[in-house]
Amino acid sequence: MYICTENINIELLNKKFKRYTVTAALPYANGPVHIGHLAGVYIPADIYVRYLRMCEQDVMFIGGSDEHGVPITIKARQQGVTPKDIVDKYHTIIKQSFEEFGITFDIYSRTSSAMHHQTAADFFKTLYEHGKFIEKTTQQYYDEENKQFLADRYITGECPFCHYERAYGDQCEKCGTSLNPTDLINPKSAISGKAPILKDTKHWYLPLNHYEMFFREWILEGHQSDWKTNVYGQCKSWIDQGLQPRAVTRDLDWGVKVPLPDAQGKVLYVWFDAPIGYISATKELTDDWEKYWKDPDTKLVHFIGKDNIVFHCLIFPAMLKAEGSYILPDNVPANEFLNLENNKISTSQNWAVWLHEYLQELPDKQDVLRYVLTACAPETKDNDFTWKDFQTRNNSELVAIFGNFVNRTVVLTEKYFQNQVPAITELTDLDKAAIAECAKNTGKKLRIALNITVSVKDLTS
Ligand SMILES: [Zn+2]
Repeated sequence: MYICTENINIELLNKKFKRYTVTAALPYANGPVHIGHLAGVYIPADIYVRYLRMCEQDVMFIGGSDEHGVPITIKARQQGVTPKDIVDKYHTIIKQSFEEFGITFDIYSRTSSAMHHQTAADFFKTLYEHGKFIEKTTQQYYDEENKQFLADRYITGECPFCHYERAYGDQCEKCGTSLNPTDLINPKSAISGKAPILKDTKHWYLPLNHYEMFFREWILEGHQSDWKTNVYGQCKSWIDQGLQPRAVTRDLDWGVKVPLPDAQGKVLYVWFDAPIGYISATKELTDDWEKYWKDPDTKLVHFIGKDNIVFHCLIFPAMLKAEGSYILPDNVPANEFLNLENNKISTSQNWAVWLHEYLQELPDKQDVLRYVLTACAPETKDNDFTWKDFQTRNNSELVAIFGNFVNRTVVLTEKYFQNQVPAITELTDLDKAAIAECAKNTGKKLRIALNITVSVKDLTS
């Protein structure tokens, strides 16, 4: 039996878009992925994409590993290996986890690819040549002991907004605010643990403050009714706080080299290059990539977790706007976080259900986890995953209710219809009443595929 629900999404009725480009946040390749990632980003994106494909829409579903940035170099340093060793290891684990859990990407790429380095460098160069950056020499924190500038997570300190004590130089993970290293109170080097000195260095900045009117019009006026309230609210609060220029380059040796002659030892900021990874991956997959990124009839949707809102709603759109030939995201459905047994999932404290470990314990139960994580998805608030709930949903909902339904269908088809699904004849009043009841319960119009339907009367007898 095959039931197709209709009218889930109003936009499909309007047929406003010719095609869809759907991206799912690039997981950071310095560790495996866990159930929080799956529930917040990858399952929702996959459901959306599967639905669009069922409706015979032209969809491009893009994923890949984010392989640059400071946490990777910190981990490599700690383990005495190269950053490449780290990303090769975790890219493989993450990619395999997504395959095992049926996330149906059209491509799962990585930002260390040659295609990506070229695309990101070209993107930077276009903005540079069109005068979209501010060039500034400023004093930045420097670790004298290790002779290294302290970008992003190489520096920690107190958040000036919420006073969380372990905020990073680029973002406070507690309140989500994006920061500059010099915003931190009592900064410390993450390498030596010592207080850093300040030293001159030149960088390129994207003046987000020049885009305030654009953001007000595009987000605050244009997407008040269709963006999720958590996403809209965060954007509004940042725009109202006043946007600042953001440095898009770093003093580091791991990343996409800044394609300018006077930029030795500098790479693109990971959050500048990572979202361009969606574009590079599309290019890697098809020569016909431009229609997925430049045609206004394409709907661009970014699935992310709430910690990525600032990058996907402000920084990346400002980059796309500055470049000028790209479409902007039509929606950014960010989810909240999933907790585990009432505690925040924590990579550093190893409090998580890692997907590759789940598969070792329950090797053929991917769909059970997909089902449970869909049922407890943190859509509008942080939600909790518990093993007790997992057990109940498996035993009572999947095995008892759904399993019994399938079993009855098969048994009755054998008993009354000689194992053949009969062609549908006239619907009885009881059939119609049952269909109407389904429609009422789901709030959606149901269409039952006529040629493979057993009589509803038999199912209920
Ligand atoms: Zn904070």
